[in-house]
Amino acid sequence: MKSTGPIPAGFETLNGELAIGGKPVSELVEQAGRTPLFVYSGDMIAQRIADLRAAMPDRLLINYAVKANPFGPVLQHMAGLVDGFDIASAGELEIVKQAGIDPHRVSFAGPGKRTGELEAAIAAGGTLNCESEGELDRSLAAGETLGMAPRIAFRVNPSFEIKGSGMKMGGGAKPFGIDAEAVPALAKRAIAAGIEFRGLHIFAGSQALSSDALIETQANTLELADQISESIGQSLPKLNMGGGFGIPYFPKERPLDIISIGDALKARFAALPNSLKDADICLELGRYLVGEAGVYLTRIIDRKVSHGHTYLVTDGGLHHQLAASGNFGTVVRRNYPSAIATRYGDEPTEAASIVGCLCTPLDRLADNVSVPRAEVGDIVAVFCAGAYGATASPANFLGQGPAEEIFL
Ligand SMILES: *Cc1c(COP(=O)(O)O)cnc(C)c1O
Repeated sequence: MKSTGPIPAGFETLNGELAIGGKPVSELVEQAGRTPLFVYSGDMIAQRIADLRAAMPDRLLINYAVKANPFGPVLQHMAGLVDGFDIASAGELEIVKQAGIDPHRVSFAGPGKRTGELEAAIAAGGTLNCESEGELDRSLAAGETLGMAPRIAFRVNPSFEIKGSGMKMGGGAKPFGIDAEAVPALAKRAIAAGIEFRGLHIFAGSQALSSDALIETQANTLELADQISESIGQSLPKLNMGGGFGIPYFPKERPLDIISIGDALKARFAALPNSLKDADICLELGRYLVGEAGVYLTRIIDRKVSHGHTYLVTDGGLHHQLAASGNFGTVVRRNYPSAIATRYGDEPTEAASIVGCLCTPLDRLADNVSVPRAEVGDIVAVFCAGAYGATASPANFLGQGPAEEIFL
């Protein structure tokens, strides 16, 4: 038997079922009309952001990384809760605009921005996080074509990374950003060419659960930003200091200690160098804001035994939950938090594997876990499904198509 990751706080039991936002899952499925289904709780997202703001220095701004969950109602909800939006394509720019968000609040990072995407972002008034010299030249040309000064921040490839983080995005050779030592000369040239200088973007990693590692990274980030600013000879209007705040997905993982991160940052902010005194300083967070506020619900459509092992076969799978299946950036497959949502809180009585409906052995939602006996028709919940679920999974694989999504 294997264990599952910790179920996030904030969920309740109602009539023997898992309840999200005060509604039992069977009612939510009825409301949506079908399974598989993603349910996102607006209250849980708002609470998460309120707790984060309470822990962090007052002047710290919080951006939302749209790629974590670009569902329209989530973005509309976010519009009143965060300070800015980080996007990674012209497609996301469109999604953000459709949600009624002012593109002036947007910054656009990503290593392969097409010229048409640069033009769309400049025309909309967004900030480009410039990732290379070639991209700068194309941005300057695009600005000339449009008769507009592009708003540009420089994305720095730092020499450090977040220790122990799940996904490393800095340190050594990387396709992201401009090597730190090359930034000052490029920035000076761009400023002389008439860009609107929007400062620096330094992103060193993702899915970190060690507050000490994040505190160290933030200190390194502020120091590097100061050095680069000194070399450019101009103070920074803005510093995007990255994010990397993780959430516990797997057994033995613990929530991040944001109080100690906030306290360390308050001490840093009290002694900022002149180059950063007037800067808008922001964090950019995706999964930390939305990941735990989403649940994936899928119905058991078959129950079978093979060589003594019980399989609960669902109508969902890796085509909606690639990460939970263990096929999105994981080396060793481990179980996400999950439960039989229609028997929530019942004592476990058997071992079973919960699998998806795809004909591939990769399609596992929970491997050899301890569950109350479940029957055909019961609903399975996979937690931590609010980020990198619906849009980060191959929905059309095997002709399955996307899951339903509802926002509460
Ligand atoms: C993916 C990404 C994020 C969001 O990462 P999370 O782990 O969801 O917080 C933030 N910034 C950049 C540049 C990214 O590429």
